[in-house]
Amino acid sequence: MQTYDKDNVFYKIINKEINANIVLEGKHFIAFHDIAPKAPVHILIIPKGLYVDYNDFASNASDEEILDFNRGISEIVKIMRLEKHGFKILSNAGKFTTPDFPEPQSVMHMHVHILGKSAED
Ligand code: AMP
Repeated sequence: MQTYDKDNVFYKIINKEINANIVLEGKHFIAFHDIAPKAPVHILIIPKGLYVDYNDFASNASDEEILDFNRGISEIVKIMRLEKHGFKILSNAGKFTTPDFPEPQSVMHMHVHILGKSAED
């Protein structure tokens, strides 16, 4: 696994060097709207800790960070009212793709995509 490189857009969002459309911020995570949504609701949730991908996070983050992050996902589901229609969560790690999932990880800071549509849709 590659080492963490601070030269990535999510590092800049954490450090408030660039703006994001933030939905929720916790002690250990930030959740914001994806700039190029692939579903009516497309939220990215990222840890504030510097982890390259999901495996780095799951292996090396503290229990508190992992709990806070996962509770953050359930808060987003509630805030965005995704339960009615269901939702998907996805995390790309590294270069792997398949024909159905043709995009590799493009931002080298761990993130989870939360995709769905609101109860009003
Ligand atoms: P991935 O391809 O899994 O690494 O996902 C990276 C995601 O970050 C893509 O869906 C991009 O649209 C999204 N993205 C890139 N830059 C920004 C940004 N400045 N604000 C919000 N989302 C972004």
